[in-house]
Amino acid sequence: LPVLAIVGRPNVGKSALVNRILGRREAVVEDTPGVTRDRVTYKAEWNDKKFTLVDTGGWEPDASGINASVAAQAEVAVDLADAVLFVVDAITGITATDEFVVKMLRRSKKPVIVAANKIDDARQEPEAAALWSLGLGQPWPVSALHGRGVADLLDHVLTVLPEVSAVAKQEFGGPRRVALLGRPNVGKSSLLNKAAREERVVVNELAGTTRDPIDEQIELGGKVWRFVDTAGIRRRVHLQQGADFYASLRTAAALEKAEVAVVLIDVTEPLSEQDVRIIDLVLESGRALVLAFNKWDLLDDDRRRYLEREIEQDLHHVAWAPRVNISARTGRHLEKLVPALEVALESWDTRIPTGKLNAFVAELTAEHPHPVRGGKQPRILFATQASTRPPTFVLFTTGFLDPQYRRFITRRLREVWGFEGTPIVVNMRVRE
Ligand code: GDP
Repeated sequence: LPVLAIVGRPNVGKSALVNRILGRREAVVEDTPGVTRDRVTYKAEWNDKKFTLVDTGGWEPDASGINASVAAQAEVAVDLADAVLFVVDAITGITATDEFVVKMLRRSKKPVIVAANKIDDARQEPEAAALWSLGLGQPWPVSALHGRGVADLLDHVLTVLPEVSAVAKQEFGGPRRVALLGRPNVGKSSLLNKAAREERVVVNELAGTTRDPIDEQIELGGKVWRFVDTAGIRRRVHLQQGADFYASLRTAAALEKAEVAVVLIDVTEPLSEQDVRIIDLVLESGRALVLAFNKWDLLDDDRRRYLEREIEQDLHHVAWAPRVNISARTGRHLEKLVPALEVALESWDTRIPTGKLNAFVAELTAEHPHPVRGGKQPRILFATQASTRPPTFVLFTTGFLDPQYRRFITRRLREVWGFEGTPIVVNMRVRE
């Protein structure tokens, strides 16, 4: 899907606008600065056109270091977006922070649409016109709170958004695209450096200095892989506040571009909520998944037993993901990442022929028919695989299948075909 990022300094009404666009109250408007929301991307739709909305408003920094942090957010959002919706408070007018963001937007060369927000009433429209001075084209007067002007704004957004996202358009047959994910200090940059077999100098990012490449091609196991969005790993962003939010945004950005994710887990520390959240983001994105347990060189027997228990408890839902135990520091078993990546991608690409799939369904339903519900027994008429990447199945049925029964089918699909390293999706179409 094409990606639209919403960018702007705190309090200009980004959340309210996100709510308007989504047509629901999901991105809660908070008056308290510093509130973190986990959610970064949303599926949006306007006039039958679907797109992904990236909301950078989940975290509002305090006044100190505001420029740097807003710009950092905007920068990530822009890296992954096909177009940017820049929200300005037209009543307050342009502030220094706005100017800061504008500079960054100009450099990005992405299409930018200016939303002049808080124009609640036609008499205030001259305030919006003043935003022509930003040099970003026509400002669109809107009131996110009341909905005024939002339809026109979205009509215009659709003319700017490409049909297919820039990411989807990326060349086929090139190196496969890997996102290296994990919470801070799990060893992502160590792994990259080790894999690239050279320590690179991580330059302190100053506004306007040359940008490091976003993706890096690295040879592993005799094959070139494209590690996406590595700039976020190499560039050390030291944010007092909002670091978690920044990390989620980076994760979403990398996933958007990747085919497979390697989630690094630090074995010296208890498995955390953040680890699980990152894995959930991968599942939600439908990308293939490999789990890499890092710092294996520091693991002792006691910790090892705990780790096994933690994996059993908290990673039970991704038991299908290949696991490799590595040390980014010593380089131990890094080569094992390659077969894991290959198997995950192969599963992600798997297509089950319709004949085989229906034979499977016939056998399964003969052995374990769906329980009778209210005197009726839903039957599966036909099954087909609607897509790969990840494998997505559709069951045409005569009634709603119990969630347990659907889980049972999913489990059986895995038993028969493995699908090691990929999420699979089973959808249902009820035919009367
Ligand atoms: P990032 O934030 O995920 O990029 O993590 P870094 O690569 O910067 O690593 C954080 C710290 O963990 C650094 O001090 C690394 O030297 C250390 N580290 C990373 N991988 C390993 C490993 O496999 N073993 C050991 N002992 N330390 C590691």
